[in-house]
Amino acid sequence: MQYRIGIDLGGTAIKVGIVDETYQVICSHQQPTVEGFELVVADMAETARIAAEKAGLRLEDFPSVGVGSPSCINPYTGLLVFSNNTNWRNMPLKQELEKHIPVPVFIENDANCAVVGEMLAGAAKGYRHVLMLTLGTGVGGGLIINGRLFSGGDGMGAELGHTPLVAEGEPCTCGIDGCLEAYASVTALIRQTEEAMSKNPESRMHAHAAAHGGVSGRTAFDCARKGDVVAMRVVDQYCTYLAAGIGGFINIFRPEIVLLGGGLSGAGDTLLEPVRKKVEQFVFAHDIIGAPPIEKAALGNAAGTIGAAYLGDI
Ligand SMILES: [Zn+2]
Repeated sequence: MQYRIGIDLGGTAIKVGIVDETYQVICSHQQPTVEGFELVVADMAETARIAAEKAGLRLEDFPSVGVGSPSCINPYTGLLVFSNNTNWRNMPLKQELEKHIPVPVFIENDANCAVVGEMLAGAAKGYRHVLMLTLGTGVGGGLIINGRLFSGGDGMGAELGHTPLVAEGEPCTCGIDGCLEAYASVTALIRQTEEAMSKNPESRMHAHAAAHGGVSGRTAFDCARKGDVVAMRVVDQYCTYLAAGIGGFINIFRPEIVLLGGGLSGAGDTLLEPVRKKVEQFVFAHDIIGAPPIEKAALGNAAGTIGAAYLGDI
């Protein structure tokens, strides 16, 4: 059995998974992300070593180590170009990690890792042209073209969440106004939910929020399912924004399948069915050539680990 190892470098935790040939995460280890680049690099190597030991392996036993992180990463130079979580700029992540790890290190943006994982072992298995959006705090994008990860000439493309949706629209975390992320992230949905609640004190979303510790990405979807008219309007508008973004990507790439991952994809058919319906109005020549299937990603957080673990193979 040949094993792979993937590291997820997040803002709050370093998570490492050992993956077997059937793409199962057979064991894992994690520790909190501390402050300071050198310390984080040392912790990543240490966490990887402990995870390997749990599987009865040493780091030398792996052909490579893969790292995914929610950052702007240049996989060719090995630089972590910038990270909003940590304010790092141009950190030599690959080179520094290879001082601690005795095999080649590959690094990629976490959304890119997730689409690789879904292609190898999840909802996009068997497809060669895959587009995935991760709907979380932000909107991550991952793109597989002809069976290979596409990330642009400098490795920093496929930032699908930061394509313009509304010219001069809502401010995005990236500094640009009107990005898809500013309308289709969980953060955006919470903003849309709170706006609707403030105008509609009769909505059952108020009681839902009070009972669940505040407004979340679930508030509108849960209440829409129970027939709350205001919540249904919030969900309808949210799905229109998301469908417009997806429709644009379909027109450019014509993927064989579109996957939705991240926390919001847990809404399942309450999200998928309206998005599938609404996307038709944004797809070029839809009445003639149709649109690809839009499905929920299958692997959850494991997609990023599995994809990172196999970065050296694709
Ligand atoms: Zn943006």
